Amino acid sequence: MNRQCLYCGERAGIIAKVCADCKKLLARVAELRGKVSYGQFLDGLEQTGVQKEKILTFLQADPEGKGSIQDQVTAEMTTELMRVMGISGRQTAQEVKRIRDGVGKDSES
Ligand SMILES: [Zn+2]
Repeated sequence: MNRQCLYCGERAGIIAKVCADCKKLLARVAELRGKVSYGQFLDGLEQTGVQKEKILTFLQADPEGKGSIQDQVTAEMTTELMRVMGISGRQTAQEVKRIRDGVGKDSES
């Protein structure tokens, strides 16, 4: 029986836990995170040629329960921004998720 991809839920293959597209995206995330703005980050993911819808599913997946990739990257960027601004502290993915859930979903279209 084929396994499902941990990220997008599509068929991943017999041994793989992650499908080829998400593997590509994961590699790109590792390359980009901490180096670019969020907009550039998204552009970089689109450059993999993976469908945008799938990228969004991938970003919101939380297979390890540590927060989605989107929340992790947002947390890292916020932490970096706070550091640059001289504010101590650390944003966690859980915190970002909490804030976003509190704000509501009106930014999603
Ligand atoms: Zn996948």
